[in-house]
Amino acid sequence: MLDQPARQDRPVPPVPAVQRTNPERSFAEEVRALRLGDGEVFRGEGILAVTKAILQSGVAYVGGYQGAPVSHLVDVLVESQDLLDELGVHLETCTNESSAAALLGASINYPIRGCVTWKSIVGTNVAADALSNLASPGVIGGALIVVGEDYGEGASVIQERAHAFALKSSVWLMDPRPNLATIVRCTEQAFELSEATNTPVMMELRIRACHVTGEFVAKDNRAPPISRNARLAEPAAHDYSRISHPPSTYVQEKLKVEVRQPAAERFIVERGLNELLPGRRSDLGIIVQGGIANVLLRGLDRLEVEGEVPTLVLNVTHPLVPDQVVEFCRGKRAVLVVEEGAPDYIEQALHAILRKHDVSTRLYGKDVLAMAGEYTAELVTEGLLKFLSQSANDIDLSRPRERFEAARAGRAEAQRLLGGPLPLRPPGFCVGCPERPVFSAIKLLEREVGKVHISSDIGCHSFATLAPFNLGNSILGFGMSLAAAGAVAPVMQKRTISVMGDGGFWHNGLLSGVASAMFNRGDRVLVVMQNGYTSATGAQFIPNTSGNRRDGETTSDIAATLRAMGVKWLRTVRTYNVATMLATLREAMRSDDNGLKVIVADGECQLARQRRIRPQVAAQLKRGERVVRARYGVDDEVCTGDHSCIRLSGCPSLVVKPSPDPLRSDPVASVNNGCVGCGLCGEVADAAVLCPSFYKAEIVQNPTWWDRLKAKVRGAAIGMMAGE
Ligand code: SF4
Ligand code: SF4
Repeated sequence: MLDQPARQDRPVPPVPAVQRTNPERSFAEEVRALRLGDGEVFRGEGILAVTKAILQSGVAYVGGYQGAPVSHLVDVLVESQDLLDELGVHLETCTNESSAAALLGASINYPIRGCVTWKSIVGTNVAADALSNLASPGVIGGALIVVGEDYGEGASVIQERAHAFALKSSVWLMDPRPNLATIVRCTEQAFELSEATNTPVMMELRIRACHVTGEFVAKDNRAPPISRNARLAEPAAHDYSRISHPPSTYVQEKLKVEVRQPAAERFIVERGLNELLPGRRSDLGIIVQGGIANVLLRGLDRLEVEGEVPTLVLNVTHPLVPDQVVEFCRGKRAVLVVEEGAPDYIEQALHAILRKHDVSTRLYGKDVLAMAGEYTAELVTEGLLKFLSQSANDIDLSRPRERFEAARAGRAEAQRLLGGPLPLRPPGFCVGCPERPVFSAIKLLEREVGKVHISSDIGCHSFATLAPFNLGNSILGFGMSLAAAGAVAPVMQKRTISVMGDGGFWHNGLLSGVASAMFNRGDRVLVVMQNGYTSATGAQFIPNTSGNRRDGETTSDIAATLRAMGVKWLRTVRTYNVATMLATLREAMRSDDNGLKVIVADGECQLARQRRIRPQVAAQLKRGERVVRARYGVDDEVCTGDHSCIRLSGCPSLVVKPSPDPLRSDPVASVNNGCVGCGLCGEVADAAVLCPSFYKAEIVQNPTWWDRLKAKVRGAAIGMMAGE
């Protein structure tokens, strides 16, 4: 078993003077970029440009909850505490998006600028209550919400659009063209738009906008006039009109449509937030969301019609400015709307605007493009081909069409030669992950009790829904697995098992799951994966991390919290001990206790652990100190080749190789060099009573004279026994 101390005995990761999310990564380059001043050239990624732009805008507070593709914003600021201290900027690493959105309450009464960030759509769902209550009274200080629009083929969440929230709450939505200068300008203007209209502004950044690289000319960072360094002596005067309660809410709703939206439309035009890219044709036009403008421009280039079709780039997609749209469309025969994702909010709105203004321009959109899914270069190029063929038959598209079709045919041919589509490569647990053994134990439990309803959750443990475990019947949201078993458990003969990570536990699971199950006397089993970080989003610290970014102390203990909530049946088990985990699961399933039964599955995230110990080991080796590390192996001659060990653990370091025995055709299992010595394969072989082919070896670096002597004696003895 892995030589990893229990959580309470684990060394506290060093917390250097600069506060950090975790001790293994460094954003030193990014931190330097945030300090650039007037006239210096910033080079980097889109999301870092946003971070710089908010500091240039004089924000007094920043908060957020991690999630791709925007985690970088808070992660880098966590490492920039010195700079934030100088400027007086408060940074809050929130426990969920709801608490991040609620931070913006500072801007309701005070002329204080703030920015919060999270992953959408899931984070926006969680933040929705606070957003509604923020948008209704509106803000005095600029309030910016940077949402990572995790949409498309690389996305990890449900495919929905943040646009819906902007529409329903009357929050303005920016969708800047993925170009650093545009992104920075939009960020700065977002605060001004927010203040000019007393409305929070949301800025959606897709994966491509967050990671686009480029440069812009920086400005000095601005210290906010009201801040941690310049505090207010008095609170704002009580003003009931700023409370989101009736009857204020009735007035606030009218203000949204009668005052704030017209002001926003004026601001968008006066500041030129939307861009008009000129084109030679006066009869055609394209209206595109800023965030996918680059894909469109690439498509036009491929079709050799760049500079032909005038294009209105909507860096603000809500509100649309009717006069601007009408002016752009009037006199044109056909306009293509390029809007990614469903429903087609913008296209529908444009139809309504044109009809109301009696403009007869034909709109193309989802009829030639796809209603749902990512607008890839190929998809947009194909849509452009259809649009241009139907609306401008004077443009000769034969050559680009040939090229497009040849490229597509080439890919189909490659696929045919390969014998079909390439096999999927689903994500999986890291080598040595502490969560994998829990699912090995559940697999073994199912051998005894039969199939069990598994309520899964968001986090690395959701990989267990994939092969080889295939464990999981549903995922209902972050920290929602216990609540999601609420109506299933009462109709099942066998108890249900909910699996939740410690990130999910603090995010939502404690109240939505544990409190509710306790309150309803739920007879369910909950496994909390206590790996110490929100590992799936980049190993950010959470309340039970052995160390806090401010003072190195653990904030909260999961087991103690559960006990305080009244949980009576509670066990903490080291995850790598498969036999104990299996016995504990068995006990939970069979116990006479008909309340909530919680197993805290304890094991530090292996990825974080390796990053933590690697520099320590390197330093030890450099000092010439003795270092021992474990490696596991499979004895070729014992392995039967049935591969149960692989099916039960799924470790990527467990591979197959040809059997050295010429009389056996089945390949044998083998452990490759990626093994981190977690011991799971041996544990599984033992708990599942598999073949005894696994062995543990200790690799000793900088051996002592005693190590060398022992190795010599052992080598000689083995040689003698082997008849050498
Ligand atoms: S990041 Fe950590 S918790 Fe996630 S799969 Fe890897 S080792 Fe496991
Ligand atoms: S091969 Fe075995 S010991 Fe090595 S990392 Fe994988 S499960 Fe752990």
